[in-house]
Amino acid sequence: MAGGNAIRGSRIGAGPMGEAERGEAAPRTFVSYWCANGHEVTPSFAVEDGVEIPEQWECKRCGLPAGKDKDNPPAPPTAEVYKTHLAYVKERRSDSEGEAILEERLGELRDRGLIR
Ligand SMILES: [Zn+2]
Repeated sequence: MAGGNAIRGSRIGAGPMGEAERGEAAPRTFVSYWCANGHEVTPSFAVEDGVEIPEQWECKRCGLPAGKDKDNPPAPPTAEVYKTHLAYVKERRSDSEGEAILEERLGELRDRGLIR
């Protein structure tokens, strides 16, 4: 029993340590990305076979997509997300299941006293 506990304890520490070792071993490159708000993010990537530098990166400050072209950052995704949501709602509307879900939601709101 004591042996089992020892193995379990060592496994907890092994995970992060293994990752750190890998990060140090591989050479890293820093890539600059700019978002629509002008924030610059410079994530580092391991230079290894099969590792591709992504075209876009998520801005750490505001969450917008950031691109490698400073003068031409990617557009905020708000409009696209909204359109997708609309399409989703329209799709759901075409079948009765969508209405059932809507009724369920309305029931929840009524239960909480948010609507009558
Ligand atoms: Zn930003």
